[in-house]
Formats: sequence, C-alpha cells, structure tokens
Amino acid sequence: MSRYITHGMLIDGSGAPPQPLQWLRMDEGRIAEVRLVDDAAAPVPLPADADIAFDATGLTVMPGLIDAHCHLSYGEARSIEEQDLYGSAEYRALRAGWHAGKVLRSGVTSVSDPGGSWNVAVAVRDAIRAGIVDGPRMSAAGKYLTTQTGLADYFPSWVGTPPSGVGALTHDVSQMLTEVRRQVKNGVDFVKVAASGESSTLTPGGGSVPAFRSEELKVIVDEAHRHGRRAAAHARSGVAVVDCIDAGMDWIMHGDYMTQAQCDRLAASGIPLCPTLTFMANIADYGHLVGCSAGRIERIRHTFETAIKVLRHAYRNGVTLITGTDSGFSITPFGQWHARELEIFVEHIGMTPLEAITCATRNAGFTVDPGQVGVLAPGMWADILVIDGDPARDIRVLQEQHRVRAIFKAARAVDLHPARDAIERWPWERVMTVSATELHWHSVRGTQ
Ligand SMILES: [Zn+2]
Repeated sequence: MSRYITHGMLIDGSGAPPQPLQWLRMDEGRIAEVRLVDDAAAPVPLPADADIAFDATGLTVMPGLIDAHCHLSYGEARSIEEQDLYGSAEYRALRAGWHAGKVLRSGVTSVSDPGGSWNVAVAVRDAIRAGIVDGPRMSAAGKYLTTQTGLADYFPSWVGTPPSGVGALTHDVSQMLTEVRRQVKNGVDFVKVAASGESSTLTPGGGSVPAFRSEELKVIVDEAHRHGRRAAAHARSGVAVVDCIDAGMDWIMHGDYMTQAQCDRLAASGIPLCPTLTFMANIADYGHLVGCSAGRIERIRHTFETAIKVLRHAYRNGVTLITGTDSGFSITPFGQWHARELEIFVEHIGMTPLEAITCATRNAGFTVDPGQVGVLAPGMWADILVIDGDPARDIRVLQEQHRVRAIFKAARAVDLHPARDAIERWPWERVMTVSATELHWHSVRGTQ
C-alpha cells in the first residue's frame, strides 16, 4: 500500500542541492515516486484517499544516515580486554540487539559492521531482518582476519586470539582460505581484514607494519569474491593501503599514514575510503573528560592531524570518502556520535555540508547494499530521516537528537520513544582495574 511524505525540503542524498518537495510515495518498502515543487507546472494532486505518513512542512526530508564503521558487538567497551574477553556470545548478541535500536533511533538507518566478536553482527543483522529487534539495515563481517603483526591479535603470543575476541589469527595462506570459507558459511556479507597492525608495531615513518604480504591479501580477497562476498580492510599504514589496492579490496578504512603518492594510487583505483575520524576526534577533544591518559590523547591528536592533511589531498584529488565513526567503544557510544563524522568532514577536510551528507548517504550506501540505499529516488529503499533544521547550511543539526521528527526504515515509521533507553553495565563486562594510576605513599602524606 502506498504511503506519502509531503512537503518540506528534500535532500535526496545524491549530491543534488536541496529542493522543495511536493510529495514522495513509498510502496513495498521502497521509494516509488518523488515529486518536487515545479514552479512552471501545477502541483500533482494526491489521490483523495492518500495515506499520509508524515507532513514535513518546514522540515528537511533526507536519506537516513549511514555509518559505515559501527561495531555492534563491542558493547561500548572501555578496553581491549572488555571488548575481547568479558561477556558470553549469548549476552553479547542480546546486548548488540539492544544497542542496534539506539543506533536506528538516532537517525542512522544503515550500518556496516566491519568485524567483531563471535558471529554477533551476523546474528543481529538476521534478527533485525526477521523483525525480532529494531535496528538499522546492516551489512556484517565476522572476526577480522589477522596475523601476529596485525590489529586484533591484541594479546601476548602465548595467549593468542581468544574465541570471544574480534580477531581470527591466521598463520598461513591455508588458514586464511579456511577462515574465509568458514565465515562465508556462517553468513558474513563481507570479510574484514586487519591489513595493518597496532601501535606496538609502529614503523619509524608512522603507521604500522603491513600485517599481510600483498600476495596473501590477494588470496583472501579473491576467495571472498569467488564466494560472492566482498572484502574490506583496516589499513593505517600507506604501504598496507597500496597492498589492499593491488589485492582489489572493495573498500578501505583509515589510511591515516598515506603519503600523497599512495593517496594518488588510491584515487586512481576508485576504491572508496572510510577514514573514521570521529573515534580519534573524540579522544583528542574530549578524552580528558573520561579518563584517557594525557599521553594517549597527544598520540591520537597527532595521528588525527596527520590523517586530515592527507585526507584533504585525497578529497581534492577524487578519492571517494565514506562516513564511519567506530561507534561501539566507550568513547563512541551507540546512537550519539554517528553524525559527528560529517561535521569533521566539513570542518577539517573542507567539504560543503552537502558534500559531507553525500558521503553519509550515497557513498556509504556502497558498504551496505550498493545501489539500493542512500539516495531517495524511485526503486531505492525508503529509509528516510525527517529533521527540524537545515543540515545543508549547518551540518551540526544532524547531531541534535531533539531535532529528529521522524525516521522511516523500508517505509515503516520507527518508534522514537521506547519505554527504556539505558542499560546497566554488568560487573563481568569490566576489566578488573585496581586503580588508574599508582597510589604513592608520598602523595597521601603530602611530602616529596
Ligand atoms: Zn573499527
């Protein structure tokens, strides 16, 4: 049955400038027709019995935002131990379902979940599709394929990657192939690869060592593609970015330490980049409010500043950028920071607000359901955000929750006011930190 959204200003997500909307018709979960106000022609009247889902007079109608980097299984982790060790698979899946509702109610109608613990993202995606829990449209990866020099092999070599952790440690090509097949069998939409490492393996030039040899990456990507799945990579090091390009990776996250030449390779490849700056910006700007150490704040601020220099070059030279936030940590709780990435794109990369919106709609849709989501045009999913404000003028309005007037996912209105929106943290979720720093006898006695 057709339903209509009427009036308001339409930002269709394609990059086209805002235009006054007559009405938009939704049918079978999809956009069926869009009628703009045409000063030269008479308005096209609605049928007498039209079912008006929302009158958006004075408001902005736009695609729901898309966060291409959101880890639903992480449970707002305060530490790697909390992310990788505490909480059963069952508890994590239920918790992720709860968090998915918060993400959706914040105006994010799609996320790409690039890796997490157990097979939680796949389970939540399926539960959302089945209508068991409310949440955004999702594309899901499983555990990150990694090596002993890659991200997600967090613990000492005598521990390895725990079954509850986000990494799948692979030592050789045969194990890589087996892991890809296992993940495909278990329902991933794409394979996540930790193509570069943690800060403990930083190279002198910045970034971290590539965790895989380029021929290994090729095998992984090829195997994912052979099974009709895609592959995406975490790569902070510029060398790792180039290896990912050569391997035919479908999209790349971070890229902070690319040189301009490596960045130009990325532009020529046409492979999109999801820089994921919000996580770093939150630590740099607000980390002092939540107990991040001064040293860590400084280190992250330096990486952020390094990244935005090359990202400005990337954007000017035609790299397709996608919004993502790394929501799922305690510094990026679900449903709160997804739209900050757009503000960062405007403020630090030099985009217009409309260009940033396109990164969060059409461009990010590529990571979820290519060509089906992110633009309000006939045939696309009717995933729609109605907001009080003009984000094409002030991008920050997208972060103000009280401005959200309506959200539709597949043409169905989302309940914006659930009975309860906060959960308690359970003791077993936290690392057993005794104290943040040492309690010295002298600091108690006030002597030196
Ligand atoms: Zn991430």
